[in-house]
Amino acid sequence: MKHKYLDDVATLSLSCDKCVGCEKCTEVCPHGVFVVDNGKAAIFDKNSCMECGACAKNCPTSAISVKAGVGCAYAVIVGWLTGGEPSCDCGLTECC
Ligand code: SF4
Ligand code: SF4
Repeated sequence: MKHKYLDDVATLSLSCDKCVGCEKCTEVCPHGVFVVDNGKAAIFDKNSCMECGACAKNCPTSAISVKAGVGCAYAVIVGWLTGGEPSCDCGLTECC
């Protein structure tokens, strides 16, 4: 079964004008969010994006923007590393 996150909350965006079709984003994305067709990337499945930031870091033309290190993925990883509850450490006193 494919992993899904909340609908329409991922901060991922793509500037097609900057894309040179190198396919790095399709290689590094663990969830198959991108496809490259006719030399241009497109966001195929935005709701599967966990905002890890790998695509933006590896894009040679800065065509991809995503706020990495926020949201559920970051919170779960912090929980693993600290042995505590998942927390995004955003400073809110209530669960975000
Ligand atoms: S990594 Fe960047 S330039 Fe390469 S295909 Fe993806 S969006 Fe386009
Ligand atoms: S941030 Fe991570 S999960 Fe989201 S599209 Fe980029 S590589 Fe894929």
